Amino acid sequence: MTSSAYIGRFAPTPSGFLHFGSLVAALASYLDARACGGRWLLRMEDLDPPREAPGSQDAILRTLEAYGFEWDGEMVRQSERHAAYDAIIERLLQHGLAYACTCSRKQLEGNHGIYPGTCRNLQHATHDAAIRLRVPELEYHFVDRVQGKFRQQLGREVGDFVIHRRDGLYAYQLAVVLDDAWQGVTDVVRGADLLDSTPRQLYLQELLGLAQPRYLHVPLIIQPDGHKLGKSYRSPPLPADQAGPLLLRALHTLGQQPSAELDNCSAQELLAWAIAHWDATLIPRSRTLAEAQLR
Ligand code: GLU
Ligand code: ZN
Repeated sequence: MTSSAYIGRFAPTPSGFLHFGSLVAALASYLDARACGGRWLLRMEDLDPPREAPGSQDAILRTLEAYGFEWDGEMVRQSERHAAYDAIIERLLQHGLAYACTCSRKQLEGNHGIYPGTCRNLQHATHDAAIRLRVPELEYHFVDRVQGKFRQQLGREVGDFVIHRRDGLYAYQLAVVLDDAWQGVTDVVRGADLLDSTPRQLYLQELLGLAQPRYLHVPLIIQPDGHKLGKSYRSPPLPADQAGPLLLRALHTLGQQPSAELDNCSAQELLAWAIAHWDATLIPRSRTLAEAQLR
């Protein structure tokens, strides 16, 4: 791969502070980009103002800086991209690839959370309605650099999914695909909690004629006791004065082998070492890792 061809990114959601799991994902994407001389972009996924924790955008930036991360160019905010999202939604509607859904929450209960297609052919007006993407009864699959082959039958396992919510919020699945393409991202490195979102994103890329990035999903950090996998479980916010020890711990989590001499190094020195020694093939081939098992 020629170095200038690689564009990676970190895309935090400002619903809270960065925690150890976010550090592992940020570090993996950073090292994977820098190890081959690639660019590393920062994108704030602020799609959901009601769920945004006040002050978290600033706190995320300060933490990344304290941990020695340097991003290329200006940070992009999804809250500034609504016009681009609207244009694509309009296009999908015009082509009959998406449709308005007026089902109530009650109507959506059951069916294991998979939308049964009730409004597919009802031609509802689009105001005061959610917009759903029509999905085909087809399997979408890809080979993840860490997790290996992953497949999903979109119709059966996911169903027609929402790209624009009734309350006006844009869906992550749509925004992430449009922005990765717009920013020229070639390599998506993120937590394995998003593995099962990837086939939806592949389908959107195919519909819109966008290039498919490579994917690398790092293990999701779960409860210290290894139980109750929690999307809900979040380790505490990352303290700025623990950058060295926590970067070392994140490197061990990613299967890298920092030597003991690095124990008292600064964040910048650790990152420089880690870029020079990055080996993505050492990342544990597991969807989850319990925090307690980590050094
Ligand atoms: N914003 C998402 C999150 O914080 C990550 C999106 C992505 O990397 O695709 O979980
Ligand atoms: Zn409906």
